[in-house]
Amino acid sequence: MQTQFANAVTQKENGTRLGGSILRAGGLVAFPTETVYGLGANGLDGDAVRRIFEAKGRPGDNPLILHVAKKNDVKQLWTRIPDAARTLMDAFWPGPLTLIFNRSSAVPDEVTAGLETVAVRMPDNKTALALIREAGVPVAAPSANTSGKPSPTTAEHVRHDMEGKIDLIIDGGPCRFGVESTVLSLVGKPTILRPGAVTKEMLEAVAGPVALAPSILAPLKAGETAASPGMKYRHYAPDAEVLVAEGAPRQAASRIARAYDARAMRGERCIIFATAQTRALYSGRQYVIIGDRNEPATLCANLFAQLRAHSDDVDVIFAEALPEQGEGLAYMNRLLRAAGFHVLSE
Ligand code: AMP
Ligand code: MG
Repeated sequence: MQTQFANAVTQKENGTRLGGSILRAGGLVAFPTETVYGLGANGLDGDAVRRIFEAKGRPGDNPLILHVAKKNDVKQLWTRIPDAARTLMDAFWPGPLTLIFNRSSAVPDEVTAGLETVAVRMPDNKTALALIREAGVPVAAPSANTSGKPSPTTAEHVRHDMEGKIDLIIDGGPCRFGVESTVLSLVGKPTILRPGAVTKEMLEAVAGPVALAPSILAPLKAGETAASPGMKYRHYAPDAEVLVAEGAPRQAASRIARAYDARAMRGERCIIFATAQTRALYSGRQYVIIGDRNEPATLCANLFAQLRAHSDDVDVIFAEALPEQGEGLAYMNRLLRAAGFHVLSE
C-alpha cells in the first residue's frame, strides 16, 4: 500500500478533507492529537477497525478509544451519560481524559474487544477535531505505533512504524503532552486505569475520590485479570534494555553512575536520561537531559521520543524514577513498562 502524506499547517483543510474521505471509505489515517499520534478508522465499521489491529500487530483483546468532535456525540455510544461524566467532560474536554462507560449497540465488538464498556474522548487538537468532523463518525484510534513500541509523538515516528501499511499520515508537528490520555472508568467507583496529563489530583478536585487500578505501577500477578486489557502487554519498549533507578535524586544518580561504569567496562554502550537537577552528577558519561524533575510534564513530553532516538544506538538506557504524584505517576507508569519493571536497587 502507498502511504500518502499531508501537512496540517501548509495543507490545512486539504489534509483533513482527504483524511475524512479515506475514513468514510474504511481506510486508515494517522493524525496528531495533544497526547500522541493516533491511528484512526471509522469507529462504527468493524471491518475498518480490524485493519487497525493488523497494521499495528495489536492483540485482538486490547480495546480502542473512540474519538469524538463534540460532547453530545457520546450519547450514541453509551447506554446513558452518567452525572459524573457530564461534570468531567465539562471540566476536561476537549483534553487528555478518556472516559469509560457501558456501551450502546451502535459500537462494534471490534472496538471494545468484546467488552460491555467503551472508552471515549474528545481530543484537544484542531487537526484531530477537523478530521473527526470530516469523517462524520466517531474515530476509533489507538496510538499509531507498532504494538509494543513507544508511542509516536511526531509524524516521522509514525512514518517509521506505519509507512506502507496505512493510507494517510497527517503531520501536525510534535505532540504537546507526549504521553497518552488518562483513562478513567465510570463503571462503579471512578477508577484510573491509565494515568495521564489529567492527574488524580485534578480529577478529585472536580469529581471527588478516585481510585487507582493496581496495575498502574506493578506488573499483573499470575491469574490476575487486567481492568484495562492494554496494561498486561509489554509496552513502550525500545530495543535497548531500560533500567530505572529509584530513590532521592542524588541516590538515584549514584546508583546509575555505578551501574553505568560497570556496564561500560563490559563494553556495553550506555546512555543516561539525566534531569536538570542531576546532570552534573553524570559528568564523563554519555547523557541526554530529558527534563526538569520539578516539572514532570517536561519528562513526559520527551520520554517516548528519547526512547525511540536511542532504541538501537545503545545497549542500555538508564533513567531516574520520579515521585508518583501529579504527572509523575504517568511518567512512572510508562517508564516502568518500557523497562519491563527492571529497577536498580543497589
Ligand atoms: P491506546 O489506544 O493504545 O492508547 O490504548 C487504549 C487503552 O485504553 C488501552 O490500555 C486499553 O486497554 C484501554 N481501554 C480502551 N477501552 C477500554 C475499556 N472498554 N475498558 C478498559 N480499558 C479500555
Ligand atoms: Mg498504545
